[in-house]
Amino acid sequence: MKFLSEYRDPALATSLVSRIRALSTRPWTLMEVCGGQTHTIVKQGILDVLGDSVEMIHGPGCPVCVTPLEQIDRALHLASRPEVIFTSFGDMLRVPGSDCDLFQVRAQGGEVRVVYSPLDALELARANPDREVVFFAVGFETTAPANAMAVWQARELGIKNFSVLVSHVTVPPAMTAILESSDNRVQGFLAAGHVCTVMGWSEYEPIADRYQVPIVVTGFEPVDILEGIWMAVKQLEEGRAQVENQYARSVRRDGNRQARDIVGQVFQLVDRQWRGIGEIPMSGLGLRDEFAAWDAEQKFDLHGIRATEPAECRAGDVLRGRIKPIECAEFGTTCTPENPLGAPMVSSEGACAAYWSYARYRGGDGGGEEFAEQSTETRS
Ligand code: SF4
Repeated sequence: MKFLSEYRDPALATSLVSRIRALSTRPWTLMEVCGGQTHTIVKQGILDVLGDSVEMIHGPGCPVCVTPLEQIDRALHLASRPEVIFTSFGDMLRVPGSDCDLFQVRAQGGEVRVVYSPLDALELARANPDREVVFFAVGFETTAPANAMAVWQARELGIKNFSVLVSHVTVPPAMTAILESSDNRVQGFLAAGHVCTVMGWSEYEPIADRYQVPIVVTGFEPVDILEGIWMAVKQLEEGRAQVENQYARSVRRDGNRQARDIVGQVFQLVDRQWRGIGEIPMSGLGLRDEFAAWDAEQKFDLHGIRATEPAECRAGDVLRGRIKPIECAEFGTTCTPENPLGAPMVSSEGACAAYWSYARYRGGDGGGEEFAEQSTETRS
């Protein structure tokens, strides 16, 4: 398949591994930002084939994982209300809140529906004028344009029984927070190709310059990832710190102008809590004041709902790359996909789920299928 099979070519991937190992004069430490990239890296055995040349540490780019616990609890509260039809992408339903998850609320009679687009939720509101339809707007910059469009259309069409519970986060402030932490080990980043498809890469240039880290905009297939690593290592070996674009088949420097425009018209930058990490200033997107009527937090007065994250879950350390999932004492013991303590164990982009799914990290015989066919579906 054009634009797919060539990026899963075993010969090309093997050649890139050899080039990375030949190029490295010392061990380098890179962080892939996106959870979709983490899954490719773990599933394809890239961690192993790089040997001592590069250590990959996994970043905070799983939007489901970084959604704060109190926002999950607010979703659970809304979904329990009899007048509400609560809508979400399917990946949020198994994320544990303080007491239960959305699946359990649905089992207890709450109306929770999986939709494939926020516009489906808007249509549901139009078809059910006697109900309140809430959409759980979670994600990085990639999903923000569609969510902005739904709110924009709700205002244009005068649909008042639709609102969004917003938990949008943005990538650059998270990268900056990691680089400024006292125990930072990141020497270069693979930036998330789909985020940059929307936003472009110009906002990464000051980060590369200020912190002297190479940033390579990278795709999601094995050859993409290996080429992104090779480009980052080449910069490090040459003493350069620039933004480069490996994902040229999708990303332009200015991104998607129309998508950025609708995001800018509906959302504004706000301080945002990240699960396990805490508040990062101006790292989230919140609805502008003129769209307050479609803001579920204001409409249902949810600000009083607070939550304390379970101390035993080390999601914050995993999301900042401080530890690998298998270094969490709960991994595979008290925390499994069937009984998760934290979102990284159940999200399709979660690092803990990646280490669990590719069974060599839990004592089985799976994983290690080098450069195999795989789904690289990712929401961010
Ligand atoms: S293994 Fe479970 S408890 Fe440990 S960090 Fe991951 S989600 Fe949290």
